Amino acid sequence: MVAPRVDPDEEEMQALCSLCFEGVPVPQVYILPHFNDILNNYVTTYRCEKCAPVSLDETRDRLLATTDRRELDSCAEFFERYNQFVLEHRRGDRNDALRAVLLTLVERIRTRDLVLDIGKPVSIKLPDFPKREEG
Ligand SMILES: [Zn+2]
Repeated sequence: MVAPRVDPDEEEMQALCSLCFEGVPVPQVYILPHFNDILNNYVTTYRCEKCAPVSLDETRDRLLATTDRRELDSCAEFFERYNQFVLEHRRGDRNDALRAVLLTLVERIRTRDLVLDIGKPVSIKLPDFPKREEG
């Protein structure tokens, strides 16, 4: 017997909270910028509803504390990857002006006023295997 094929679009897509490792239905996941010390950059981070506040606090506190322009630019570039263009970054405005916009975007993620798009699932192209005869 052949297992029924499941259309990936019909499955409920889940994202994994990378703090507690719980699966979260995609419409409920928080996609947020979080600083990665190894990469020395802001990276995309998935959080469940329980874990999002502490991570958003960490991002906010880090933005408030840094005077490193490269780090602020890295956060702006995170948002630009999600089509949230940050004029203050592109224009090279002062750190305080850029920081204020980034903090606003972080708070909009917290309130769900801004929900970043996880994007479409990408199918992996597998090599063609010989078809198995049914029956
Ligand atoms: Zn979590």
